[in-house]
Amino acid sequence: MKKVLVLGAGQLARMMELAGTPLNLDVKAFDVRSDKVVQPISPEHEYGDLAQGIINCDVITAEFEHVAHDTLSECEVSNKLYPSSNAIKIGGDRRLEKSLLAACQAANAKHYFVNNKTDFDKAISTLSLPIIFKSALDGYDGKGQWRLKSQADAQDTWQDIEKFLAESKGSVKQGIVAEQMVPFERELSLVGVRRLNGDIAVYPLTENHHTNGILSVSVAAPVNSDLQQQAGTVFKALTDELNYVGVMAIEFFQVDKTLLVNEIAPRVHNSGHWTQQGADTCQFENHLRAICDLPLGSTSLVRPTAMVNIIGEDQVSDEVLAIPSVTMHWYNKGKRAGRKMGHINVSGETELILAQRLVQLSTLLPAATFPDLAEFAQNYLAKQS
Ligand code: ATP
Ligand code: MG
Repeated sequence: MKKVLVLGAGQLARMMELAGTPLNLDVKAFDVRSDKVVQPISPEHEYGDLAQGIINCDVITAEFEHVAHDTLSECEVSNKLYPSSNAIKIGGDRRLEKSLLAACQAANAKHYFVNNKTDFDKAISTLSLPIIFKSALDGYDGKGQWRLKSQADAQDTWQDIEKFLAESKGSVKQGIVAEQMVPFERELSLVGVRRLNGDIAVYPLTENHHTNGILSVSVAAPVNSDLQQQAGTVFKALTDELNYVGVMAIEFFQVDKTLLVNEIAPRVHNSGHWTQQGADTCQFENHLRAICDLPLGSTSLVRPTAMVNIIGEDQVSDEVLAIPSVTMHWYNKGKRAGRKMGHINVSGETELILAQRLVQLSTLLPAATFPDLAEFAQNYLAKQS
């Protein structure tokens, strides 16, 4: 039985344990808040500190990219860490991410690095409004972002950013990446996996919808082969460059027929949760296969599938389970506004059936918790006829 240690003890580690058990993989997680190694599904079971966890495992991986650099170094010296600390650090720092995209000639939004007022003014004159300013480190779910639409608001925006920079502490210097706002048609992401020998498998592109800056719905259905090929080319370029091992997600903006990279995540990703029911092998199993150097599983779409995030709510009507091909995935987390608490996967033999089931689902879920779902489902249904 191979033993895997995941840095981070949240829902992604939990779903790795669920996927790893049938493969006879033992998955434990390092909870960075308690500094303890725990069982992801039953965190009350503790297995010592990080040093012991490193000794007791065969392979180490991460469920998030904002891991403290000294923790990454401690893991890297064991030669058990996949993907590498370099890849994880790149995913956690937008400045490094932009350099990687440049090295791989991957198209992305025009941008400018900002560390002070002079840079801020230069960003505004170099890029055209609207501009989105993003913290280089620690951003997630749209946090640490400022949108500037008009010059009149520039002073206020700078004051917010200046305060944010002044208050940032940490071993790595915080900074800002200013990005031209992209007038995208839609947001797509590609989840894929690479093994150390260079084998790659990618899932179909997934269409993503956000509500209040947080992913709310992802849909996987047969996609335009040209876009799929573009995304696959970027995936290969980035992962080959990093000699990457494991699952990586790339978020894209689609502008006309072109994909621009938004950001990368060096881990299993929320927009890949649909693979649990919609793909031959789910992203969690494929990540484990890759880091344990096992043959990769097929990433084929089995049937059109959507994932609906449950945000800030710890229960939904049991009647949801009466809809065919609906599965619930709770994360066993304490209820908090804006927190990802679980997700619902819905599949259909065709996109029409999937759309009908999404409409049915939306009638059973409270609009306060799922504000855009009914409209999304209706629009998706309308597109099928
Ligand atoms: P998450 O953790 O949810 O992936 P994040 O905090 O890492 O989010 P981004 O993905 O960079 O941040 O941005 C959040 C959202 O803001 C994007 O999904 C997109 O809707 C919007 N956005 C970000 N950058 C741009 C841009 N350059 N042009 C237009 N919209 C953007
Ligand atoms: Mg994002």
